[in-house]
Amino acid sequence: MTTRAIISDIHGNLGALTAVLEDARSHGAEVFWCLGDVVGYGARPLECLALVRDTCSAIIKGNHEQAVIDGPAGFNPLASAAIHWTQGQLCRESTLVPDAMQFIAGLDTRLDFPDATLVHGSPQHPLDEYLFREDTFDYLPRGRDFSPKLTNCFALIDRPCFVGHTHVPGVIDAQMSWTEPADCDDRFDTEGKPCFVNIGSVGQPRDGDRRASYVLWDGRNVFFRRVEYDVEASAEQIFQAGELPDMLGKRLLEAW
Ligand code: ZN
Repeated sequence: MTTRAIISDIHGNLGALTAVLEDARSHGAEVFWCLGDVVGYGARPLECLALVRDTCSAIIKGNHEQAVIDGPAGFNPLASAAIHWTQGQLCRESTLVPDAMQFIAGLDTRLDFPDATLVHGSPQHPLDEYLFREDTFDYLPRGRDFSPKLTNCFALIDRPCFVGHTHVPGVIDAQMSWTEPADCDDRFDTEGKPCFVNIGSVGQPRDGDRRASYVLWDGRNVFFRRVEYDVEASAEQIFQAGELPDMLGKRLLEAW
């Protein structure tokens, strides 16, 4: 079985992306899939886009790609400032990705393979719906009444579905329970059944662990990986970029 590496939410962090690709190759990954948000927040969007385009055989569009095309409506001020800066980067003359805007506009929002479905957010709203651990909480006193969001999402898949967007790794299974990497010793057996596997974020983790997050996939088992990289260097690139808010560099150091 071919080992696949699935990456997401790189957010212009070239140091994190390079470290993850190296880690994946050293663990036998031959096929690479990307779930989107290659750009936005970080200081090296073009370099990341070029590397992902050259490495990944499947690339999904994220909400940050869509915002670069349509404008950052509904984004918070930090994300919005980053989108405006990123638009400038992607529109400038570059030999790295000469057709950057056209390239991201043409990306798919969902892809189905025989053993996996890929979306950025959720199958219901591929670009911008979050699937959180909190969605598995049972708020109603009479028992197993879950948010319609999860029920609706499970109705739209029939195999393991890989998602990103929240920047927090973990699995929601059909029993609506949440499993974190630490709960399963970094290895989750999907048995090929429908579930949502959030693979975390390569370039801007938000779970308090600043190492880059991604997964390896053998068609049944998910292997959660965390990879050290030079976080200070990526933060410094943001500080030096001028129009990117310093807060975007600081948050890399603290992983929030
Ligand atoms: Zn993201």
